[in-house]
Amino acid sequence: MSERHYITPVGDTGMYILDTASWRVFRPVMDKDRCIRCGQCFVYCPVNAIRSRNDDYVITYDYCKGCGICAEECPKKAIVMEPEGGNA
Ligand code: SF4
Ligand code: SF4
Repeated sequence: MSERHYITPVGDTGMYILDTASWRVFRPVMDKDRCIRCGQCFVYCPVNAIRSRNDDYVITYDYCKGCGICAEECPKKAIVMEPEGGNA
C-alpha cells in the first residue's frame, strides 16, 4: 500500500481507507502527440488523478481507478484505456 490514500467517512460506522487505484483493471494512457492541452480530462476526472503541470496534463496513477471518463471526454481521442499489466 502506498503512503497516500483517500480517507472517507462512511455512514456512522467510522472512517475507511479507499485505495481507489486497487480497483483498476484498465489504465488510461495519453498520446501526447494527439493532445491539444484543452484540460477536459483534468476537469472530468472524478478522483483528481490528472494534474495540470506547466500548461500540460499528466495522468497520475496513485488514485486513478480506471473508470475511462477521461478517455470518453477527450475531444481528440488522445487517451486510450489499456489493460492493466500490459505494455503501457
Ligand atoms: S482531454 Fe485529451 S486533448 Fe484535452 S488535455 Fe486531456 S488528453 Fe489532452
Ligand atoms: S480513468 Fe477515470 S480515474 Fe483514471 S484518470 Fe481517467 S477519469 Fe481519472
